[in-house]
Amino acid sequence: MNGLTCRSFPSVIVIMLLGIILALPSLSSLSYAQSEEEPRTWLDALKTLSSERMLADVRTLSSLEFNGRQAGSADDLRSAQWIAQELTGVGVQLPRIDNKGIAFPSSGAGNEGPVGIMASMISTPLIEPDPIVRTGTADHLVPAQLSQDYFPVFDSPSADLQGQIVFVGYGIVDPAQGIDDYAGVDVKNRLVLFLRGKPDYYPSPVSHADKVRLARDRGALAYLTVTGPIIRPYDIRRGVTGRPSALYGQLPSDQAIPGAWISTKLAETILAGSGEESDPDRLRTLQEQLNDAPTAQSRLTNHSASLHWKTKIADGVLTNVVGMIPGAGPETIVVGAHRDHFGRPAGLWFPGADDNASGTAVMLEVARVLGKSGLHPQRSILFLSFSGQERDVLGSRLYTSRPVLPLSSTKAMVNIDHVGAGDGVLILRVAELKKSTLKEAGWATGLVRKLDYYGFLSGGDDGPFNEAGIPTVSIASGGAHPHLHQPTDTADTVNPENLRNIARYVLALTWQLANSP
Ligand SMILES: [Zn+2]
Repeated sequence: MNGLTCRSFPSVIVIMLLGIILALPSLSSLSYAQSEEEPRTWLDALKTLSSERMLADVRTLSSLEFNGRQAGSADDLRSAQWIAQELTGVGVQLPRIDNKGIAFPSSGAGNEGPVGIMASMISTPLIEPDPIVRTGTADHLVPAQLSQDYFPVFDSPSADLQGQIVFVGYGIVDPAQGIDDYAGVDVKNRLVLFLRGKPDYYPSPVSHADKVRLARDRGALAYLTVTGPIIRPYDIRRGVTGRPSALYGQLPSDQAIPGAWISTKLAETILAGSGEESDPDRLRTLQEQLNDAPTAQSRLTNHSASLHWKTKIADGVLTNVVGMIPGAGPETIVVGAHRDHFGRPAGLWFPGADDNASGTAVMLEVARVLGKSGLHPQRSILFLSFSGQERDVLGSRLYTSRPVLPLSSTKAMVNIDHVGAGDGVLILRVAELKKSTLKEAGWATGLVRKLDYYGFLSGGDDGPFNEAGIPTVSIASGGAHPHLHQPTDTADTVNPENLRNIARYVLALTWQLANSP
């Protein structure tokens, strides 16, 4: 190293002075107050993040105005336009995107969509109000209560059927592993009842859609699915209960059969039987046996069920919103959050405040303060509001299939999903990003002790980016999210302190990713 030159000496002093100023809270807050509208450094920007503004955005997005933002619905399109509007005038650029002639319902002439909106066509299922599900013995069926006892699986086809219920364990068939949950039972023209998830010893992933296909291939009319009474401690901490939950089955319409997610309580009644044979703990015993070893526990129950509802399918537009802060160089960092939720199926309303108005509000606020700062990052920062996450991440897939900036020069993707409820511990699900980078943003924001690192988990909007070979981190708030996928996921359950901390962390991490060598 050479000694200090005449030119570099003063700049060292300037840096030292800056360090002192930043270390003095009174001085730095003074400079912040003077430049509230236009923060000059990213640390100033950090201080202008507003949890009030984020909470207000969560309230707006989860209000009746947007009706639960179902992907492909007019409500979701309006929420996309609202986001685009919020990004306008805060120094974030909205690129004009070629949507291959898709006409936007609200844009009049329809030959050119609004700026900053990426769209593709999607067909959207909507179960009409007042579905009817009955369970009991074939000659005495009793209505089950919507929300309490069951939700129809919300992309189910119309149902008008009745049949006896056959229990088929976890609903897995894999001869190589010695598992056949359908052994010894005939499910033709009957309804199958299968547990959610899989036993711990079973090595392969198994999706809900896989299970429905197996049932359909064996001639089942329909299915019921349920969380077994034995819930893993990890899931209990996450707030998993025996309640039914909103779900899309994610099967193409030519493969789907009607289905419902029922409560553990109702499943226990179905399995308990009647008369002398009755055993209220039978479902638990069966699950214990299934969890112990791969032996089929399939059995015909003495219960039947009838399902009646109408599903309307409508064509709609799936929309991502794209905002950009251009960088000096050719590389890009993506910050994304999904905006869509379950909308108004079966006459219900799923506001989706924690899932994921919260992540959307955080992304929007970070975009606002960085945009307003007028700071120029080395790499471009792309803010993406996805739709279609609940429909098997259709929106983030749409983006990676038609990227606005090349994926080959996209260096990282930060995903934000349900950050409103919970205990505020920052759950980081990481793929290929350095822990030191994640930690550094923690030090910069005083949150390093709140960071909890896990591996990548599929199902989020980071998935398509991960598949494209881009390092990703998905950020969630830890602890219980008891209202997840429930009509009770309202803005009152969102903690503004969580929003604030997570926005601070996202801003610090984004800035660091956008400027590190
Ligand atoms: Zn969700």
